[in-house]
Amino acid sequence: MTIAIDGFSSCGKSTLAKELANTLNYIYVDSGAMYRAVTLHLMNTGILKDGHFIQEQVIQELKDIEIQFVYNAEQKKSETYLNGVNIEKEIRTLAISKQVSAISAIGEVREKLVSIQQSFGVKGGVIMDGRDIGTVVFPKADVKLFMVAENDIRAERRYLELKEKGENLNLEEVKKSISRRDYLDMNRDISPLRKAADAIEIDNSELSEQDQLDLALQIIQDKKKALEVAN
Ligand code: C5P
Repeated sequence: MTIAIDGFSSCGKSTLAKELANTLNYIYVDSGAMYRAVTLHLMNTGILKDGHFIQEQVIQELKDIEIQFVYNAEQKKSETYLNGVNIEKEIRTLAISKQVSAISAIGEVREKLVSIQQSFGVKGGVIMDGRDIGTVVFPKADVKLFMVAENDIRAERRYLELKEKGENLNLEEVKKSISRRDYLDMNRDISPLRKAADAIEIDNSELSEQDQLDLALQIIQDKKKALEVAN
């Protein structure tokens, strides 16, 4: 099966996706990491500076960006590589989070990344999380989940996560960054963040990670049975 998980920023999509992939022995693809990797590359090359860039230069640079996921057996998770270098840590900072939505709104960036994402799904057995997975990348996904959670809860979760990684921030700054990212992702012209008509919504504001996993597994199980009956 192909499983698509979309939703707002910091809604626990990747936590759920990773746990599902481990439980079901599926491949997990973090599509947001790919947009973050492009953003990091543009910052490193000076094309993106203080939130400013020339779109033509971004488009020109795309041919020099290669993104891979490599499984780290010790950490038991796959890590993001940009042109052969492990950038898994660097792409998770607030600095990247603040700039990524402007870059992900560029059509040519999306075209390149969506085509790579679709190639991961050819054989099935894939769980991918992002913003347009159920609507654009895998519109025929067998299971589509759409994650939501209350704003304050999301901000607090992300704040604690960043703090744990050593970032010195305040909660208000994190809250603002999340709202701004949601706004930009929902209001861009190309593939804006939308709940697919056939997606099942999960509000995890009050759910533990285990509750969330159990609920998702139940939804997947039900879908599997329905597919077996239909065939
Ligand atoms: O999921 P994550 O928060 O890492 O995504 C970072 C950003 O990448 C999002 O805010 C969004 O701008 C972009 N993105 C996207 N489409 C996806 C995944 C992420 O536009 N499928």
